[in-house]
Amino acid sequence: TRVLDLPAAGLVLLVGVSGAGKSTFAARHFRPTQVVSSDRCRAMVSDDENDQSATADAFELLHSVVDRRLRRGLLTVVDATNLHPHPRQELRRIAKKHCLPTAAVVLDLPADLIRERTRNRSDRVIDDDVTARQLHDLRRALRQLDQEKYRALHVLRTPEEVDAAVVRLVP
Ligand code: ATP
Ligand code: MG
Repeated sequence: TRVLDLPAAGLVLLVGVSGAGKSTFAARHFRPTQVVSSDRCRAMVSDDENDQSATADAFELLHSVVDRRLRRGLLTVVDATNLHPHPRQELRRIAKKHCLPTAAVVLDLPADLIRERTRNRSDRVIDDDVTARQLHDLRRALRQLDQEKYRALHVLRTPEEVDAAVVRLVP
């Protein structure tokens, strides 16, 4: 097993390209109410998880939920790609406002595995170009994450590491 220490009261950012297994990881390790998903927020405001025109509204809703949960000191896990610095910064700012820590779990799986999973998905069609761009963005994000000073930063690089992960909530 690989123990991932995460703050019991605070914000957890999942980071990874589409198909990395963020939603699967979230469902396995957290209660449904602890997980705030950008795709679910998109669906709530547009009836369509894939409607990119709803992104701004979806993130406003996501931030609002994160803010209200953290105000109550509740563990809150953001299931979004979190590949870009400004959205990450905005989420960390909300946690900081409530004097709570932010941690990150990065799912950095081999590109070939991502492409295979993406092609086999029945719930969503993702263009190879989109995957390629996200894989590039993830390399950059990994360098930035190192500088961003998280309470904990866990990077899982193989499916075996992901399967062996156990979350331990630290007070
Ligand atoms: P998106 O950003 O598009 O929502 P995601 O990171 O949430 O993607 P998931 O939906 O969790 O990814 O997983 C994508 C695909 O990979 C799914 O078809 C799922 O069955 C498979 N998968 C995810 N995690 C695992 C795992 N640990 N072992 C085997 N298959 C997995
Ligand atoms: Mg998902």
